[in-house]
Amino acid sequence: MEIAIIAHDGKKAEMVQFLNEHRDVLDQKQIALISTGTTGTKVEKAGFQVTPYLSGPLGGDAQIAARVAEGLCHMVLFFRDPLEKHPHEPDIFMLMRICDVHDVPLATNPATAELLIKAI
Ligand code: PGA
Repeated sequence: MEIAIIAHDGKKAEMVQFLNEHRDVLDQKQIALISTGTTGTKVEKAGFQVTPYLSGPLGGDAQIAARVAEGLCHMVLFFRDPLEKHPHEPDIFMLMRICDVHDVPLATNPATAELLIKAI
């Protein structure tokens, strides 16, 4: 099962904390993590194995959306910062739309992510 990890700058610390709290589930062999570039660096530093794609503003969200569309990515944990403006907002909406098109679970905040992780 491939899970995408994405966090906006204001949410990266929260994401690392979330991953640490759920290390037992996420460290399982059948789970592969992918991420956008800068988030991936933080996730790696926290001791997780992750395949990083481009940074979000450079197309990372679009790359992950493509994997969702192709059926390669099965869950997206995307901690968005609703209080900031983002230059790549079209890509962010595109990723959310693609998740809806393909009925792929998408959590945009820690409370929802918690429920998804518990369901694995
Ligand atoms: P980043 O991208 O992990 O490269 O910061 C996240 C995003 O803004 O979509």
